[in-house]
Amino acid sequence: MPTIVVLGAGVSGLTCALLLAKQKGNTVTVVAKHMPGDYDIEYTSPWAGANVLPMNLEKDSRWERRTWPEMRRLAAEVPEAGLHFQTARVLRRKVDVEAGLKSALADGLFQLSPWYREVMDNFRELPASELPPGMHSGAEFTSVCINTAIYLPWLVGQCARHGVVFRRAVLKHISEAARMSHTGRRADVVVNASGLLACRLGGVMDAKVQPARGQIVLVRNEAAGVMPTTSGCDDGDDEVVYVMQRAHGGGTILGGTYQKGNWEANPDPNVAVRIMKRAVETHPELTGGKGIEALDIIRHGVGLRPWREGGVRLEKELIDGTWVVHNYGHAGWGYQGSYGCAERVVELVDEIVGRTKCESKL
Ligand SMILES: Cc1cc2nc3c(=O)[nH]c(=O)nc-3n(C[C@H](O)[C@H](O)[C@H](O)COP(=O)(O)OP(=O)(O)OC[C@H]3O[C@@H](n4cnc5c(N)ncnc54)[C@H](O)[C@@H]3O)c2cc1C
Repeated sequence: MPTIVVLGAGVSGLTCALLLAKQKGNTVTVVAKHMPGDYDIEYTSPWAGANVLPMNLEKDSRWERRTWPEMRRLAAEVPEAGLHFQTARVLRRKVDVEAGLKSALADGLFQLSPWYREVMDNFRELPASELPPGMHSGAEFTSVCINTAIYLPWLVGQCARHGVVFRRAVLKHISEAARMSHTGRRADVVVNASGLLACRLGGVMDAKVQPARGQIVLVRNEAAGVMPTTSGCDDGDDEVVYVMQRAHGGGTILGGTYQKGNWEANPDPNVAVRIMKRAVETHPELTGGKGIEALDIIRHGVGLRPWREGGVRLEKELIDGTWVVHNYGHAGWGYQGSYGCAERVVELVDEIVGRTKCESKL
């Protein structure tokens, strides 16, 4: 009966806990400083939009490929999870194509012939007649928008239904997690889903992890149906443009920024004005052409994406006599890669506890 402790209750930790708990015989405890319901600059998941816009290059596409079928199922069949279908529109500006399409937001999203054209439903390249001025090309496909304020508590509920026990604690060192199982037994495996804080956690101290700061504005104005995003913007290389309406009255997220190495927790008012201006330009229906004065703001927000040089860390390591499976560093794709990564965590845990067949069910 493997005893597992998951450190972290963001989308990564909760999805791992759920898949591990669905597997027969596992006993799972989640230990976290922050839980769904908290809004804190050290806790990324509540701040995300979130939607599915594939970001990795093809060589690292497994995580997003494997996650999409589950996101689609949740949107189609599980309304209480807080996802709804929306059309993603990816626009490649002429200037960015000429400069080699190096978007701050993503390596793979704006590629001219992306790997995900085979994966995302209803993918189509836009004809020239449908392109806004200044665009080289663009594509559309069916995606989802996730209301994270509903989805994260829903994940907690699913975990609880499968026997997961939650504990609040702040750990100084990863090896402390091995003694945190609610069973009183020493954990056979610890899953490290500590997100950005992996750079400060004793025994891990990953210097490759740093924030990619995302500032957003959440408004009551509606922009349902299409979620446009562009490959760059005139306001600077670390500013980005996206708009998405969350399911079930969650408001509309206007983004954003992608500022690597910036830990600033407070929204910058100048940046907020630029975000709103860009949003009403790309989505005039937000305010019926009346400009940013007609935006009805719910709140300004800042979240820190857990960016990692070299990409996500998904591997096992023996630390102070305990097996640790790392799953952190998902940058801007933690939701859209969550099930694919959690599936790999289950495989690694199985290797450690000596099971050969993966019995997990999404
Ligand atoms: C503005 C913005 C927009 C985004 N948009 C999208 C999007 O559209 N699609 C998408 O897929 N992703 C998006 N993301 C990225 C996504 O939010 C992240 O990749 C994801 O939330 C990371 O989740 P995580 O579980 O790894 O980390 P977190 O959510 O930060 O969770 C970490 C957990 O570990 C715990 N923890 C850490 N250290 C300790 C310790 N020492 N002791 C105890 N507990 C500890 C924390 O308390 C927390 O519970 C966006 C992010 C931002 C900021």
